Amino acid sequence: MHEVALSEQLAQVVRRAACGRKVVSVHLKIGALRQVIPETLTYAWIFTTANTALEHARLEIEWVPGQLRCPEGHESLMQGEFDVHCPVCGTVSRIIGGEEFTVVDIEVAAREEAAPGQCAGHPDEEGQQHGSFPPP
Ligand SMILES: [Zn+2]
Repeated sequence: MHEVALSEQLAQVVRRAACGRKVVSVHLKIGALRQVIPETLTYAWIFTTANTALEHARLEIEWVPGQLRCPEGHESLMQGEFDVHCPVCGTVSRIIGGEEFTVVDIEVAAREEAAPGQCAGHPDEEGQQHGSFPPP
C-alpha cells in the first residue's frame, strides 16, 4: 500500500508549506497512471495525520485521466491503464497527462501567525502555497 508512504511524504510537504498555521484543506492533482487509489489515499491521510497538526485537514483530490498524443497529432484519453496505442490510428503514442502528483493549493486558516523561524518559504498573501510533488 504505497498510499501510506505517499501520504507521509505529502504531510511533510504540507507541514513545511503551512509553517505552523492550521491547514483546512489540501488540493491535490493525481494522475490515473500513478496507481493511487483516492479512497485509500484519503484513508492513509487520516491515519497519518491523526494526532498531528494536520489532523482534520481535508484532502481534495482532482483526478487526471491518462492522456495520449500520437505522432499523427490525435489526442485521446487512455483506453486502458497500459495501452498507449492511439484509438484513432493505432500508433504508439506519447503520454501527455496522467502522471501528475501535484499539490495545487493548501488552504490554511486565516490570520494565524506562524512562530518566528518556523517558516522556510514565503507564503503569498492569500495564504496559499503552490508546488510540485516529486515522484516517490
Ligand atoms: Zn493517432
